[in-house]
Amino acid sequence: MISAAGVNKFFGDLHVLKDINLEVPRGQVVVVLGPSGSGKSTLCRAINRLEPIDSGEISIDGEPLPAEGKALAALRADVGMVFQSFNLFAHKTIVDNVMLAPVKVRKIAAAEARKTAMGLLDRVGIADQAAKYPAQLSGGQQQRAAIARALAMRPKVMLFDEPTSALDPEMVQEVLDTMTGLAADGMTMLVVTHEMGFARRAANRVVFMSDGEIVEDATPDEFFTQPKSERAKDFLGKIL
Ligand code: ATP
Ligand code: MG
Repeated sequence: MISAAGVNKFFGDLHVLKDINLEVPRGQVVVVLGPSGSGKSTLCRAINRLEPIDSGEISIDGEPLPAEGKALAALRADVGMVFQSFNLFAHKTIVDNVMLAPVKVRKIAAAEARKTAMGLLDRVGIADQAAKYPAQLSGGQQQRAAIARALAMRPKVMLFDEPTSALDPEMVQEVLDTMTGLAADGMTMLVVTHEMGFARRAANRVVFMSDGEIVEDATPDEFFTQPKSERAKDFLGKIL
């Protein structure tokens, strides 16, 4: 469903993605781990072309990512992305945030989009917050609204880049539970996170990045109990 082949990316002289090869089959949850600066966010951004790549190919559901134009906008709509910061529109209510893109981009009628948005807010457990503005919600509720907003475009895959890193500890679990629910519903997901419990429980595979390379690609059990590389052992030694 997500396929990256021979992907390279430079920032000036800095080689941040080094010959990345990654396949995420439909319905799989892949957790990306790695030290700060290893290229995890750049990989996520490359997958929906927020960041251009210098060589290689990335495709979603068999379609190569076009460089620009209408085709890119359409393909990007297939890729939902949730970041550390929620990026909700402050001057719009939660339900308006969720229905905005379906109405504007997918040209769905407002009444239908609102109904779908309410269903999604219910799915992430915050239907009762629909009429509020983002600032009136907790961080965990805002992040669940951001997940609902991404789902409203009916994406084929969801990318998460440290979705719980900006949250107070007591709100982390509610967001992870929402993500676990999505995974159970069969969503194809690529998740950058430092939440090792989530990686162990929800991931089909763990991809470990270091210095722009994919150093290990293993099941969570293999990765956590028998990491092969010194770099992974060193990383796990620091965080576990
Ligand atoms: P973290 O865990 O801290 O979020 P990361 O694994 O997500 O780290 P990236 O943000 O992908 O790392 O960054 C990879 C490398 O690319 C880093 O050395 C970073 O400084 C560099 N980098 C990222 N974005 C840019 C940019 N826009 N211009 C120049 N260098 C960048
Ligand atoms: Mg990052």
